Amino acid sequence: MTAPDTTAVTVYVDRSKCQGYGQCCFEADDVFHLDEDGKLVYVAESDVGRRKDIENAADVCPMQAITVS
Ligand code: SF4
Repeated sequence: MTAPDTTAVTVYVDRSKCQGYGQCCFEADDVFHLDEDGKLVYVAESDVGRRKDIENAADVCPMQAITVS
């Protein structure tokens, strides 16, 4: 039996790849958002319950800039 995953979800965005398209923001708007200059701001550590949406955000990023661990 495997123990439930209780570890936090860690997000890293490679800013050299991110083009500020904002697709990630639609998947997890509490984790990713664009500031008034169109630059991505994100929360580096989230509750495990947000993993699914954060992984979806990584999947839809056209630049594959998001790493989730
Ligand atoms: S979807 Fe990807 S390229 Fe677009 S803002 Fe998010 S991290 Fe950046």
